[in-house]
Amino acid sequence: MRVVLKRKIEPPPEHVYPPDPWRVVERRWPGRYADRAETALALSNGYLGVRATFDEGRPALSPGTFVNGFHETWPIVHPETAYGLARTGQTIVNVPDATVLQLYVDDEPLFLPVARLREYERVLDMQAGTLTRELRWSTAAGKHVIVRSSRLVSLEHRHVMAISYEVTLPDDSAPIVISSELVNRGDDGDDGDDRRPDDPRLAKRFDHRVLLNEAAEADGLRLLLGYRTANSGMTLGVGVDHVVETDDPYRTEVSVDGNGGRVVVSVDASPGHRLHILKYVTYQTSRSAPVSELVDRCRRTLDRTVAGGFDALLTAQRANLDRFWDRADVRVTAKDQPVRLQQAIRWNLFQLGQASWRAEGAGIPAKGLTGQAYEGQYFWDSEIYVLPFLTYTRPRIARNLLRFRHSMLGQARERARTLSQRGALFPWRTINGEEASAYYQAGTAQYHINADIAYAVDKYVEVRDDVGFLVECGAEILVETARLWEDLGFYRPDGRFSIHSVTGPDEYTTVVNDNCYTNLMARANLRAAVTAVRRLERERPDDHRAIAQELHLAPAEVEAWDRAADAMYVPFDAERGIHPQDDTFLEREVWDIDGTPPDKFPLLLHFHPLVIYRHQVLKQADVVLAMFLLGDEFTEEQKRRNFEYYDPLTTGDSSLSAAVQCIVAAEVGDQERAWEYFVYALLMDLGDVAGNVSDGIHIASAGGSWMTLVFGFGGVRDHGGELSFDPHLPERWDSLEFSVRFRDRQIRVALAHDAERYLLDHGDPLEIVVRGDPHKLSPGEALTILP
Ligand code: BGC
Repeated sequence: MRVVLKRKIEPPPEHVYPPDPWRVVERRWPGRYADRAETALALSNGYLGVRATFDEGRPALSPGTFVNGFHETWPIVHPETAYGLARTGQTIVNVPDATVLQLYVDDEPLFLPVARLREYERVLDMQAGTLTRELRWSTAAGKHVIVRSSRLVSLEHRHVMAISYEVTLPDDSAPIVISSELVNRGDDGDDGDDRRPDDPRLAKRFDHRVLLNEAAEADGLRLLLGYRTANSGMTLGVGVDHVVETDDPYRTEVSVDGNGGRVVVSVDASPGHRLHILKYVTYQTSRSAPVSELVDRCRRTLDRTVAGGFDALLTAQRANLDRFWDRADVRVTAKDQPVRLQQAIRWNLFQLGQASWRAEGAGIPAKGLTGQAYEGQYFWDSEIYVLPFLTYTRPRIARNLLRFRHSMLGQARERARTLSQRGALFPWRTINGEEASAYYQAGTAQYHINADIAYAVDKYVEVRDDVGFLVECGAEILVETARLWEDLGFYRPDGRFSIHSVTGPDEYTTVVNDNCYTNLMARANLRAAVTAVRRLERERPDDHRAIAQELHLAPAEVEAWDRAADAMYVPFDAERGIHPQDDTFLEREVWDIDGTPPDKFPLLLHFHPLVIYRHQVLKQADVVLAMFLLGDEFTEEQKRRNFEYYDPLTTGDSSLSAAVQCIVAAEVGDQERAWEYFVYALLMDLGDVAGNVSDGIHIASAGGSWMTLVFGFGGVRDHGGELSFDPHLPERWDSLEFSVRFRDRQIRVALAHDAERYLLDHGDPLEIVVRGDPHKLSPGEALTILP
């Protein structure tokens, strides 16, 4: 039984959400799908994220506006404490909501669930980068009202969001009132209901006031507010400005207090005249700058943005997205549901873009900026699931994210000390660099985070050949993480190097000895450190000397890493021909997955951890993930056997699993299973596979979707700095096209069943390997291969 099939895919119904290659269209009032849409239509630029609540502010499941990294801290209380446990919880703050524009016609509020809507359409346009809505409403008095709105979170100006809201009565006159609001929902307790209080994945709810007001002023139609968070002491400025356009005389009322403010515009509208409000919003945040400074910044940003106008924002938005799609788009032609498929692919890519675009100086939260679940924290999801996409399509952003990790090195060193280790230990989950995982068994024990980060550094440097980054940050990360491994592990009497008491990626088995994934990735980490140091010694002797001095790095230490890597123990069961997940994994009882009713998944919500831990059952790919990341370290036979062994034990209770299972299934030639997992990964959010998309997207699965296409079906690999292709185009598809950026060159790939085309856009010729055969790509000359 293929376990993942226990999960239901509930695609959005076509009569509400018709297929469209570039847009997600909500053609009618979404009813029970409104919760999901709040996430699926959310806008973000990686700095600022806004859930897709309706303009009028109600109804809303969990309205949210988030600024990446802007968080509140709170003491983690361990009723039975122990040395070194994480002490400080960190939760992204739901900042004041500026999306709300309440509309009244003849004093009747537009409240969508009960309004008589003659037409309704909401569109997330992935080329324009906007969420637009157009509706026709018949009021109780029978008046016909047209409402058009458009919202964007600027990709060009990271602090800016803007809304255009336009109301027209074509045939009637009526008093129209629009109340444009700024609401501190987080502190008002108006940020959603307390659903599923026992779900550990949801964010903490505060019992104290988080945003302490320090500034509140109105200046014309402009509101400026400033806050400081109660515990973390971070500062926030929010500015909102309005431009009113109408041919009728209008009145305004402005009010502001510590909790927010409102600008009310009233007009006695004549037939055919429109009332148009442009609402410009800015958020500015800091760890230390005074509130007054942030308010000043808001003022300046608003001056500039209002002067530029809404159309300029729209133009810049599209130009940014044109560049994005040129490099990131993946096109499929297929026999079955081609438009639906294309739409889902682009939606996932768009999420990756939105989550990372302007994330400079921050990381990528597990939910992007589409929800508060997982507290807005950064996990290994960024390095292992999102960075591959960025490294191959937007290397500059990949670099920024790795620099951000580097900025946490100080705390990672301290954390290693607390855990009695040399080098650095990165936190399993964090916003501010401190470990925030209270449950160490499935948190701090995941030492593999170190190797995951090192892996991402190594890949980035390889793919972009960016030795400068190695000098600037990369080498230091590699050295400090290698130090930890060499110190954490030990030589057994038989001379093998073991690593004990760790948790691998599969969180359904914790604190084990010699987790295979961890040992393999640690070995790769040690080797990457050795290679990097020796490369710098050869190629950049001055920089090498400086780094060696700064990090007190002696040649003997590098040799010690090399030795540990060579001696690394990799569990292998010769009889079965498989790699045990850890030293004792195969001794455990096998969980009866077939006999477990579907409503008992995810297991983590229905069984005590001990019950889960004593069984062979996986939350997510572990050895199978290692086989993908370190594919050149396994034989084909081992890959096949491992996959056959672990696949039936894998629940897929984590959204991080399906994509990886797809890629490895494709590689071992199980096309049917590859296809099934592909669909799960692709529709993880749009089809609400995990049942919790209303809490926010699963960014790792979005990244995983790109990986299934490029690494899975496209068969791209880059082991040892060699770019190779071994495509497995699904039978159901006619073609698959994608691009990868490698060593500053754009390679465009078009795969069909009868011909494969590889084209180098420009730059120096490049060697690639297709199905084991070397080929030279010259710029502008397509290489055509008959498969
Ligand atoms: C997974 C982790 C992941 C986290 C955040 C957990 O359920 O097991 O691997 O990092 O979610 O996405």
